[in-house]
Amino acid sequence: MSTPVLEVVAVGDELVHGRGIDTNSAYISDRLEALGFRAARFAVVGDPMADLVPALADAVARADCVVVTGGLGPTEDDRTRHALAAAAGVELAFHDESWRWIDEWMQARGRRATDDNRRQALVPLGGAALRNRWGTAPGLVMEIGGTPVYALPGVPAEMKAMLGAHVEPALRERFADRLVPAAHRTLKVLGPTEAALGERLAARMAVVDGPVTVGVTAHYGLLSVRIVARDPDPVVADALAQRHSDEVEVELGDDFLYRGDAEPAARVLDELRRAGLDLATAESCTGGIIAAMLTDVAGSSDVYRGGWVTYSNQRKRDDLGVPAALLEEHGAVSEPVVGAMAAGAAAASGARIAVAVSGVAGPGGGTDDKPVGTVCFGLTVDGVSRTWTRRIAPIGRRFVRERSAFEVLGAVLRELLRRPS
Ligand code: ATP
Ligand code: MG
Repeated sequence: MSTPVLEVVAVGDELVHGRGIDTNSAYISDRLEALGFRAARFAVVGDPMADLVPALADAVARADCVVVTGGLGPTEDDRTRHALAAAAGVELAFHDESWRWIDEWMQARGRRATDDNRRQALVPLGGAALRNRWGTAPGLVMEIGGTPVYALPGVPAEMKAMLGAHVEPALRERFADRLVPAAHRTLKVLGPTEAALGERLAARMAVVDGPVTVGVTAHYGLLSVRIVARDPDPVVADALAQRHSDEVEVELGDDFLYRGDAEPAARVLDELRRAGLDLATAESCTGGIIAAMLTDVAGSSDVYRGGWVTYSNQRKRDDLGVPAALLEEHGAVSEPVVGAMAAGAAAASGARIAVAVSGVAGPGGGTDDKPVGTVCFGLTVDGVSRTWTRRIAPIGRRFVRERSAFEVLGAVLRELLRRPS
């Protein structure tokens, strides 16, 4: 039996006019590929019926399953219900139970359903409504030409909840004899470029329809190796993914950072907690990006003390106690200065670990000695400092700054993972 094919249709004028980005499709394909579907195509379509109906009809004609998001709201421009009815060639009927769900949901929030909401209780004949316990708009499920079609709200939190509650269990059952479950592993890598890593993993990445596939993605120099293993027996798929993950981890050597999909900042905070240590940051060229990444994770204040953005020499001197002589002799982008910044941040905050970064983010400011992309790093642990310099690819200010932030988080993580537990 062949792998069933999924298509996703994201509906919304805001998505095609550039005011919003379709993130729903990627989430849906990731989840349903884990079930054993193969995602073949995403369509992003505006609200007019003339665009919507053919997009839905085409997807239904090609795919074994179609998931639609958006356009289930109460307003005139929410037309997914109407478009599905048109694509199926059926009428819409008012569904009393949907109406009760909507009214209950509104009443629980001190409101009443209005006439506008009646639109949200319409169901194409032959279809069924899916209860939405996370918002107002009920979803839909129907068959068009033998293909199951699910319509979910556009709001990502509602879409995710409904996909898990209604869509995944139903698809798992319906396609049971055709689904080959996939097991995933992710390895985070920091050091090589995406191209260099691609070369090292070339033999594994060349396999496209074997039981195990390997892919690499990059986010400002932080690389993810994704390993996907498929087998009719989920236990075998999992073991296969694990074996390949272990092998790749060994091949990566010192460039391997950690396992899993967590953000680096979240891993750093977890390891700080495990080690009973705390952290302070002193940032120049990253301008607070490291602090932002750490505080983006809820609950970081137990191990992250805070930090400084010392962009000028004056602040490096006055806030962190960097000696003026060091700044004069070596310049702000130098290992002696980041060493003093880290030591100063540790002393002023009382944190046992402190990090510092200073570099030339560009586009201007580079010299022969210190071209754009030259970034110096300092790490102080219990009073012992070390410093190092990296030449980051000067492919844009944003890249140099984000890559520098990952360098710092990676260095802290490697330091913490090296410690005997
Ligand atoms: P509602 O009852 O909330 O109007 P709806 O199904 O009509 O539900 P939309 O109006 O299409 O949903 O979208 C609601 C919001 O959800 C949008 O403003 C947008 O922020 C977000 N959204 C919609 N589609 C997507 C998508 N494909 N990816 C990410 N976000 C989306
Ligand atoms: Mg809407």
